[in-house]
Amino acid sequence: DICVVGSLNMDMVVNVERIPNIGETVLAKGFKKIPGGKGANQAVAARRMGSSVVMVGCVGDDENAKILIDNLNKDGVETKYLKIDEETPTGVALIYVDKDGRNNISVYAGANLNINNEDINRLSNIIKSKIVITQFETPVETAIESFKLAKQNNSITILNPAPAREIPEELIKLSDIVIPNETETEVITGIKPIDEKSIKDAAAIMLQKGAKYVIITLGEKGAAIIDNERFTIVEAQKVNAVDTTAAGDSFIGGLSHYISKKGNLSFDVLIEAVKFANKVSAIAVTREGAQSSIPYMWELKEIFGE
Ligand code: ADP
Repeated sequence: DICVVGSLNMDMVVNVERIPNIGETVLAKGFKKIPGGKGANQAVAARRMGSSVVMVGCVGDDENAKILIDNLNKDGVETKYLKIDEETPTGVALIYVDKDGRNNISVYAGANLNINNEDINRLSNIIKSKIVITQFETPVETAIESFKLAKQNNSITILNPAPAREIPEELIKLSDIVIPNETETEVITGIKPIDEKSIKDAAAIMLQKGAKYVIITLGEKGAAIIDNERFTIVEAQKVNAVDTTAAGDSFIGGLSHYISKKGNLSFDVLIEAVKFANKVSAIAVTREGAQSSIPYMWELKEIFGE
C-alpha cells in the first residue's frame, strides 16, 4: 500500500531538566537508544495502523543498523530493499528532552545520504505503491526521482519537508500533499503560521508552486488543511504531552494509512484523515521516544473507539 523513501536513524535520547546552553554541562536524568529517523518512524506508524509498508533507504554495516532493521521487521515493515553501505555509519540523532517534553535535536545523516537515483530506479517497481512518502533526511534528488516514478504510476505523493529547507520547484509540483510543521512552514514561505490569515498566506505560496493540498501541523492546536478553494482547521486531541518526538511522523503515518484505505484523495477525505492522524499523534506525544511512542491500531480503538 505504502512506500516510504526515507531515513533510518538511531536516536540517542538524553532526559534533562532543561536543555543546556552553549558551553554549559547539565547532568542528565536518563539515557536511551531508541530507533528513529523520520522515514522509518512514518513507515512504522502506517504499519501499526495496518497498512502494508515497504521502506527504501540506506544504513551502514553496524550495530545500530541491525537494531533498526530488527525493529522494523518486528512490526512487519518490508526491509529487504534497504541498501547497506559498508563505508558509512548509520544515521544518528542526538536528542535532548526537557522536563516539559520539549526537544532539541541534531542529526548526523551518515548512510542516509548514500541512497541515489540509480538505487531508486533499480527499485522502480517497489516505489509504485498506492502512496509514496518522502522527507528531507535523504537526498533531495532521490525525492524528486521517487515522485517522478510515483506519478508515472498515478500514486499519491506525500512530501514531509523536514528538516526544514526550501522545496525545489520540481519536487513541489510532483507533490499531492505537502505536510510541513510550523517551523518548516516559516522556512519554506517566510510566513509564521500563527493565525488563519498567515496560515492561508503561507499555504497559498506552496499551492501556487504546484502542491495540490497543504496540511500544516500546528502542534497542540491540531492541523490546517488548505487547497485552492477550501480551508479548515481540525483541532488536536487534548492529552498530557510528555515527549513530542515523532508527533509529526505519527501524524503522517496515520494520515497515509487512512488515505490508502480510502483509496482516493479529496478535501473531504483529508478532513477525516487528519482527524484520524491527530489521534495517532496524540497518543505518541503521551509517551517517550520515536518508534517506542507510536501506537498500534488496537490502542486507538481502545482509547478513541476508532
Ligand atoms: P512536529 O512533530 O513535526 O513538530 P507538530 O508539533 O505540529 O509536528 O505535531 C504534529 C501533530 O501531532 C499535530 O498536528 C497534532 O495532531 C499532534 N500533537 C502535537 N503536539 C500535541 C499535543 N501537545 N497535544 C495533542 N496533540 C499534539
